[in-house]
Amino acid sequence: MAVGKRKIECPLYAEGTAVSEEDIKTRKVTHYEDHPDIRYSWTAGQAISRFLNGLKEGKILGVKCDGCKRIMVPPRMFCELCYKPIDGWVELKDTGTILTYSISYIDPDARPLPKPIVVALIQIDGASQNMAIMHLIGEIEPEKVYVGMRVKAVWKPENEREGSVTDIKYWKPLEG
Ligand SMILES: [Zn+2]
Repeated sequence: MAVGKRKIECPLYAEGTAVSEEDIKTRKVTHYEDHPDIRYSWTAGQAISRFLNGLKEGKILGVKCDGCKRIMVPPRMFCELCYKPIDGWVELKDTGTILTYSISYIDPDARPLPKPIVVALIQIDGASQNMAIMHLIGEIEPEKVYVGMRVKAVWKPENEREGSVTDIKYWKPLEG
């Protein structure tokens, strides 16, 4: 079974790590015989998969820990402070506050951009302090962005969402 070198092609999702013969021999992958189309040895995981599926529905989901009373986003299955499973899921607002930001003149491959972009850490309303997600800021000149600025998510139309962080196009200044 030369599955380890099989070319993985799946246009909707990022490639995972291909299942190897070693994974099967050492029983890291079980029930292989029942699932001959198995492709990956890992996925986004329970917490991030649920988070991404929430984005597809236009919801920002976090988790809570009753031990330290924190609301965490992005979600995780264990509280790293209390070292125990989380206690439930919560829907957060799609508004937040810029914790810090950077004006970038290059793209992720270091190619110059025609117009600079603003990448920010956004603390989501309802989440605990310093729980933030990284995203783009739009509808404002970069030099007018400031730490503490209130922002709101601008979502893609529902039929264009695919369960990705890009289901939010960017965050715009929140007025009023
Ligand atoms: Zn905790």
